[in-house]
Amino acid sequence: MKFELQTLDSYEDDDLVEELKRVSDLVNGRLTMSKFDEHSKVHSSTVRNRFNGWGNALEKAGLGDEVSPQARTITDKQIVALAKDIAQKLNTVFLTNKQFTQHTGIGQKTILNRFGSWKEVLKRAELETVALGRRYSDEECFENILNLWMHYGRQPNYAELKQPPSNVGAKAYIGRWGSWRKALRAFVENASNTDKANQETEVNKPSELKEEYEGTPKQAKSRSLSLGIRYKILVRDNFRCVICGRSPAINLGTILHIDHILAWSKGGSNDPSNLRVLCSDCNFGKGDNHEIA
Ligand SMILES: [Zn+2]
Repeated sequence: MKFELQTLDSYEDDDLVEELKRVSDLVNGRLTMSKFDEHSKVHSSTVRNRFNGWGNALEKAGLGDEVSPQARTITDKQIVALAKDIAQKLNTVFLTNKQFTQHTGIGQKTILNRFGSWKEVLKRAELETVALGRRYSDEECFENILNLWMHYGRQPNYAELKQPPSNVGAKAYIGRWGSWRKALRAFVENASNTDKANQETEVNKPSELKEEYEGTPKQAKSRSLSLGIRYKILVRDNFRCVICGRSPAINLGTILHIDHILAWSKGGSNDPSNLRVLCSDCNFGKGDNHEIA
């Protein structure tokens, strides 16, 4: 058995370049820093520092073909931002390195050189790092926002996504809308739209039908209220119980309900005029009439 000293005889630039070439022949595929370290007599960080980056070192050794001009000038921050953008465009909370390369032309090699792994890019972009992550529908994301809004009695903040009672994580929102602010904007827009749709079905019925219904409040097929109407009632009533005035924003632990004034089971409609915000105490205290939306 032949023992070799795991050091180079000299560490001139040329010696490092030769070592890069030698090791490159020993490995399959891209010469990453970690692959290099498995075979090299000099540590990859030494090479990287000498040439001002691993990509530059590879180029010096004629191994840098895959590093595009764009990849050389782009900053790490820009790469992370790009990953976010593309995930958003693809409507996913998880992005593969391959997808990223297809959309940007920035190769895996660049990612490995800069970040050590693709996972690191995903982490920094606040994307899921495993493909198995549960996919939430827009509806679930919006419902979660409304629940949090009711829970806190005010607009929920980003940090609150990461703790109960939130059941959709922050990453799902960032992955889909790019930022928490944009997610909130999308929520409000969705609430306006579903409220509008609600009004169209409830109010804009043909005039012949209106007569038929005259005197009797029109009842929707279902007592369940759209996200839009619930949000509208909460905003109208300032996220506080209309009887006792308590709000979760001030009286922690207050639980808000949306109440049908005339119970739905007794023909009460889903019209805003028949809806109000109550705390759970006032709601449960009202006996026969009570109905939890
Ligand atoms: Zn109350």
